[in-house]
Parts: sequence; C-alpha cells; structure tokens
Amino acid sequence: MFFQVFAASATSGDLYMRGSWGIFLNALFLNLLETEFLCAEMDHRRLTVNFITSPSVAQGKIRKRYRKMKFGTYTFLPEKAEGFDFHLYRVKPEVGRRMPPQPDMYSNIAIFGDNVAARNHPDWISQSPLGPAWRTNNNYNVRWDVLCATQPEHRAEQLDYIEDVARKSQGVWLNSIHFAEHGHCICPRCKELHAKSGLSWLEWRRKEVTDYMKLVSERVRDRAKKKFVIGVLPDPVTSYERFGINFDDLAPLTDEFLVVMFSKNYATPWYWEMLTRNFKKIFKEVPLNISLYVFGPGDSPSEVPTTKELLTVSVRMARAGVDNILYLAEKASQITDFQKSAVANTEVQETLRSYGGRPVQEYLDFVKGWEKVVGSGSQI
Ligand SMILES: [Zn+2]
Repeated sequence: MFFQVFAASATSGDLYMRGSWGIFLNALFLNLLETEFLCAEMDHRRLTVNFITSPSVAQGKIRKRYRKMKFGTYTFLPEKAEGFDFHLYRVKPEVGRRMPPQPDMYSNIAIFGDNVAARNHPDWISQSPLGPAWRTNNNYNVRWDVLCATQPEHRAEQLDYIEDVARKSQGVWLNSIHFAEHGHCICPRCKELHAKSGLSWLEWRRKEVTDYMKLVSERVRDRAKKKFVIGVLPDPVTSYERFGINFDDLAPLTDEFLVVMFSKNYATPWYWEMLTRNFKKIFKEVPLNISLYVFGPGDSPSEVPTTKELLTVSVRMARAGVDNILYLAEKASQITDFQKSAVANTEVQETLRSYGGRPVQEYLDFVKGWEKVVGSGSQI
C-alpha cells in the first residue's frame, strides 16, 4: 500500500493527505512528522513523503525516514564549542599521533593513513606501480603516509585499539579504512593473497576492505556497544576502483556514514550540493554526515573558507538531504569565531532563507540559535 503526503509549504507545516483514510491518518502523519519519520525528497516549496506499509509497519516498527538535522564539531583538541549537538575529537588523525579519548565525545581514528606507524615500520608502506604511498609521492593525492591495507600486525593492533577507544568514549568514527589509491597494494603479501583468493584484482581488494570493516564493526557495535561511523572520501563513483570500497557492503556494518568534504574554500557550492545528492542516493537509509573545513591547524585567517561560503554550502547540502553537518577546526575557539561571524551575517542568513524548505529553515534556525551562545557576534 502506498501513500503520498504533500505539504503545500514545507515551512508552514500545512499538510494534507491525498486518499481516503482522511483525518485519522493525517493526524498520524502530522504526529510522526514532529517526532521523526518520513521525508524522501524536498524542493523549495514541496515536501513529498512516501510511506510504504510493510510487515514491519504492521508490527508497529515504523522505519524512521526523517530525522531532524544534527550538528557537530570536529576538532583536533579535546574542546567542545557550545551550541552543537555532538562533538567528534580527532583521537588518532592521519599523522598517527594518539591522544586519550574523551568520555563525552566521539573519537575519530584514521586506520591506514598513519605517519607514525609508517616511520616506525617503513616496510609496511603500501606499494604500487607508481611507487609507495609516502606523502611525498605526487602520483597520488596522498596527504599522509598510507600503510598496506592487509598488514596483519597493524590490522590486529588497530582492532584492539579501536575497541579500547570505543569503550572509553561515545563511539568511533573512522577515516582511512581502505587501500591507498588505484594500483595499491602490490606488496608481496598482497600479491599472494590476491592469487590465493581466486578473485579479480578489484574484487579481492573489495573483499579485504569489507572483511576488515566487519571485524571493526563487530568490535565497536557488538562488543563495546557504541556508535560506529565509517568515513569515506568524497568520490561516489570510483571509490571501488580507487580504494576497494563498495558502499553497499559497508552500509549494514555502520550506523552512519561520514563524508569528509574538506576544502579551503567552498566558492562553487554547486559541486558540493551535487556530491551530497550523490551520496544520499547511494547510502539510501544510512544517515549521511558531511564535515566541512572551518579552520585547520597552522592556517591563517586568509586561507580558510569565508563565513558566507560555509553558510551557503551548508544550506545547499541541507536542501540536498544531508542528515548531519560537522565543522572542523583545530580548537573550539575557532568554531566560536565562526559562530559569531555567522550570527552577525544577517544579510546572508536572510538571502539563504529563500533557498529551500524545512531542512534549510532548520539549519538557519540552528544558526540563529547561536545568538544565545555567542551573543550578536561580529562579521568576518
Ligand atoms: Zn600490501
């Protein structure tokens, strides 16, 4: 059985239902809308809701399809800026440095991008016809040293480490879960594993990534009983060929996905909005988190995205269906500076109000809410 509910205006909440079930279902949908349900597609004026009854619905287990957007910080220091729903701390970034997890924050861990492990074990570096995955190899976009994704000691050690971090924090969000890039890895062990597998080269790489993520997922979700989020790079089309990632394999293993979309400017929001739509389509029911770059370690104010760019790209991601947005900075004070600037930028906020329906309004209301946290602010 299939219903469609149309909202003449997503902002007014003026819902009505087409069909014969009338007032009862209308009231039910309104209630569900407020509590978290539905929502498949939105444009500026119309919210379309698709509701398919199924055995799970009959049993009272209505699948939640609309979630209020949540907003997080993503920081290199264990500091929490006020005015956000959650906080993600870079416990082990790709430079390989390890910091103590925080009980009231999520932990971000990069697995195979690990400068420290690469320095201590240079023979663990990933190999390819275009050279090893040292960060100095300009044949690839590797910004850090990347280890072979089948290195058994590193894999085992990281499993234990990840479970331990999960137990000591709110949960684990992973980065760098995959092969370094296309052509990786052709170290003697990988060649042998591939030959033994009987699979094609790409399918063997996929299996290696998926099987390892199964182990990690089991450690975090089943043993530590914590939230688990797999992070991927912003390539919706060729992640399989480049990294050995198959999104459908990973979807059942993770609670949510994180796509890092770090850029030092977001001057062309069309592309970021498109990527958001691409990943929403691929991830289906699994929530999509996107992290945006605000202010990284060592940056000067002249080389980071402007407040207008950040607000605009956030709004355009909101209307494309992103579930949660995270803002990356080295420390909390840089996030607070962004909040102050955003609050003060009333002209941009006003313009963006016309960019979309419920999610856009939600986002802008969220930004307006920062007034209570940072005052009226000052424009950067
Ligand atoms: Zn290898």
